[in-house]
Amino acid sequence: MLEIVPVKAFKDNYVWTLRNATHAAVVDPGEAQPVLDYLAREKLELAAILATHHHADHVGGIAELLQRHRVPVYGPRNEPIPTLTQPVSGGDKVSVPELGVEFSVLDIPGHTRAHIAYYGAGSLFCGDTLFACGCGRLFEGTAEQMYASLDKLARLPDDTKVYCGHEYTLANIGFAKAVEPGNAALRKRETRDRGLREAGRPTLPSTLGEEKATNPFLRCQEPAVVDSVNKYLGSRVSDPVRVFAAIRDWKNKF
Ligand SMILES: [Zn+2]
Repeated sequence: MLEIVPVKAFKDNYVWTLRNATHAAVVDPGEAQPVLDYLAREKLELAAILATHHHADHVGGIAELLQRHRVPVYGPRNEPIPTLTQPVSGGDKVSVPELGVEFSVLDIPGHTRAHIAYYGAGSLFCGDTLFACGCGRLFEGTAEQMYASLDKLARLPDDTKVYCGHEYTLANIGFAKAVEPGNAALRKRETRDRGLREAGRPTLPSTLGEEKATNPFLRCQEPAVVDSVNKYLGSRVSDPVRVFAAIRDWKNKF
């Protein structure tokens, strides 16, 4: 049976590890050692490495993993990741036969210029694009691109499990409450996620349905969000891309 477990790296990164009784695949191994330790402890053989984008805290451990395990490395075709062996982009499929899973690759530029997501087995591995109750910063892309990328993800089924790259949820909820103080689903989420963190557990995965109900970056057409953004801007905008850009700017300064 396929299980998905978080292996912690650095301060707040998760290396999502898909595993069965014998094999594992890892998503975004920014560090090798925690992954090597986990594989050794659980007596698992590494079958594949999947990368969502080129930032060092997502790919920095790949070279060291390859010294110990000769496995295919999937990642975005148009980003500088020297350790890739299987460059992929939107529309491609990635299968890991050892785990019996297949993923569709989605192009979701914005955080970086060719960021990709992997969607399969009811799960979405979206790196630093969609976060629990937030979204990634625009380092290489435009607000238009990021808005379109998030919109693409939001069209996946509501019960899709969201596995993002960092544990930023409580800080993101703090900001989301400033944008949408009257959102009851957001308050419920805060209570639950605070409890999870106090128990030392990840707040992830969330579901897309939950993100659509609470994540301000997916709610750029909600009247309450639009009103709040207009107060922040001191002007009147309603175009969702401009609303998105304003929320992103507001979050950067929050
Ligand atoms: Zn990143």
